[in-house]
Amino acid sequence: MAKFEIELVPALSDNYVYLAHDAETGATAVIDPAEADPVLAALERKGWKLTHILNTHHHLDHIGGNAELKERFGVPIIGPRADSARIPGLDVEVGDGDTYSVGSQTATVFDTPGHTRGHIAFWFPDSDALFCGDTLFVLGCGRMFEGTPEQFWSSLTKLRSLPDSARVYCGHEYTQSNARFALSVEKDNADLQAKAQQVDALRAEGRPTVPGILGEEKKTNPFLRADVPSVQEAVGMAGQDPAVVFAEIRRRKDSF
Ligand code: ZN
Ligand code: FE
Repeated sequence: MAKFEIELVPALSDNYVYLAHDAETGATAVIDPAEADPVLAALERKGWKLTHILNTHHHLDHIGGNAELKERFGVPIIGPRADSARIPGLDVEVGDGDTYSVGSQTATVFDTPGHTRGHIAFWFPDSDALFCGDTLFVLGCGRMFEGTPEQFWSSLTKLRSLPDSARVYCGHEYTQSNARFALSVEKDNADLQAKAQQVDALRAEGRPTVPGILGEEKKTNPFLRADVPSVQEAVGMAGQDPAVVFAEIRRRKDSF
């Protein structure tokens, strides 16, 4: 079965923009174009022509390149229905349970509020590709700017229910600092210790730690583990509501 070829495009100081190219049809989507220039350079380098702009949420470091790319290629912008008023030029509104196709690849859309109230994620099962913006990071999650802990926890458990093989294409390279925080929560987690070493090695060579692998995240990311007894014990909240435990872990990260 065909899969996307996915090109990671570093942008701004620590954003990752993605190009997802369907060789079967030539369709090429950009996900969360922080700025246009590096996207244009990557398209040129790959010999791809842009056909879709996908946005996970309204923050400027995810939509900053929308207008220029839309103008230049005459392509539609697809983004969250729940935040349509905050994404200029949005053409196609999508929300929880909707599907949207880019060439031969079809995404299921999830509403994932918490970081922003209108955040969405695109899950392309045939490519094992999850574009989750600032909801889920490798070993971390986004700041809770607009949602409640209950909403954010529910968003994360939706993403956690995807297959272990899912590749986590997130919005930022925050992994190394996330690893330090995760170890402060779960210092005895052997999977996390090993992952943190891999991450340090990659960063020492200037290489990206993204995409993550969801199966590894389930074992190492404290924000996906607020209902795991050993994590609840580690933060002194055994047996409590996972959303409340999540809120405490998020609170600790904010001041870490
Ligand atoms: Zn954001
Ligand atoms: Fe961001």
